[in-house]
Amino acid sequence: MLLGVLVNNDAIQVHITEEDALMPHRPYEDVRVTGHLIDSGIMSKIMDAIVAFDAEFETLTFEVGRTNEDASVAEIRVHGRDEHHLDEVLGAIQMFGAEPIDPEDAHLVAAPADGVFPDGFYATTNLDTAVRVNGRWIQVTNPEMDLAIIIDADSGEATTVPMGDVKAGDLLVVGHSGLRVRPVERPREAQAFEFMNSAVSSEKPKKQVVADIARMLREVRAAGKDVIAVVGPAVVHTGASPHLARLVELGYVNVLFGGNAVAVHDIESALYGTSLGVSMKSGMPMLGGHEHHLRAINAIRALGGIKPAVTAGALSEGLMHTLVSNGVPYVLAGSIRDDGPLPDVITDVIEAQRAMRPFCQEAGACIMLSTMLHAIATGNMLPASCTTVCVDINPAVVTKLSDRGSFQTIGIVTDVGLFLEQLANELDG
Ligand code: NAD
Repeated sequence: MLLGVLVNNDAIQVHITEEDALMPHRPYEDVRVTGHLIDSGIMSKIMDAIVAFDAEFETLTFEVGRTNEDASVAEIRVHGRDEHHLDEVLGAIQMFGAEPIDPEDAHLVAAPADGVFPDGFYATTNLDTAVRVNGRWIQVTNPEMDLAIIIDADSGEATTVPMGDVKAGDLLVVGHSGLRVRPVERPREAQAFEFMNSAVSSEKPKKQVVADIARMLREVRAAGKDVIAVVGPAVVHTGASPHLARLVELGYVNVLFGGNAVAVHDIESALYGTSLGVSMKSGMPMLGGHEHHLRAINAIRALGGIKPAVTAGALSEGLMHTLVSNGVPYVLAGSIRDDGPLPDVITDVIEAQRAMRPFCQEAGACIMLSTMLHAIATGNMLPASCTTVCVDINPAVVTKLSDRGSFQTIGIVTDVGLFLEQLANELDG
């Protein structure tokens, strides 16, 4: 029962009696959460998660910050049906920053075999995370979702590890104890995208959206952070690759991720003037054009790859040429659909993930352009701190990315060709 609301100079406090809060016969844990709990929707997300798990909560105290800048603090008692249920609920609300008031150390268990996590391993989020070992909080480096946390027995450092990279005997975090996760809060200052946070935009004014994205990219570059472009072949089919190449030259694309197709069709367009056999000039299919992409792949294979083809002067224009000439790195990841593939394509997808990960950790922004496969793969690897823009003509793809639930993911439903032309024009001048 709520007994009273107390206002003091620092905060509004909501008090609930200890007796009321007690629910005997059920295990419970008292958790504390601090931050912009109301305007970032964190408090309601925590309560929704507890209810969704069919568990119960008691708000013990709730100190509401008085101004925009003040943080709020809530202490909540979470009741589960049994210890296992309680652990599940605590795991679910941990990603919103709720942590036990009396934290224990994290439980560490050795991996039973190469490539196998121990039972009950802690599955990471893409959020800023710390782990408590021997009473000391250690920051987890390389935040990425759906991995585990490994503790280096010698240095005591904590980092994320993919399942395939774990070795028998590695010490991994199990359960949800001794973990602190910081959720993404709504930005305090009015900034790009505030009007469309978490939204999938198909009806928003595109000019304004593009101007906001351009502003964000300028800010990321000014902060010395890199921008990843994740690119599908529709960028070439729509005739937009010269605009993307302009962004590379202007320094707004610092690494490109894609598959075989985007590189193949770009090189086809450079060598034959077609994309998927369709003339880039007239938009009409060319006689024998359906073979052009195969001939393009063959030509590059004969030269040993894209870079040797540029060096030999055989590839003298197009997006891939621009990347090579400007020293901008790219990672091309293979798929079951690939023809050839080009020698540059990493056909072992786990190796491709390894090649992408370091770029993901360094990036300040990522623009995903008309590729469901590579956009979602990259989205899984990005830390929540990376501002992400997903452009696709299919709202389902954009929704899937935006549903990662962070304020930093912006979905735009539009034709990628029109989008890139407008963005390059906005930044080029
Ligand atoms: P995908 O299905 O993952 O994504 C294509 C996306 O483009 C879709 O979401 C679609 O809605 C979107 N799209 C299409 N036209 C658009 C437009 N005008 N504007 C905005 N969005 C648009 O397919 P993918 O990324 O093209 O290919 C998947 C994998 O298959 C990749 O690895 C690719 O390299 C490979 N592939 C290889 C070949 C080849 O080797 N010949 C050909 C095709 C694809």
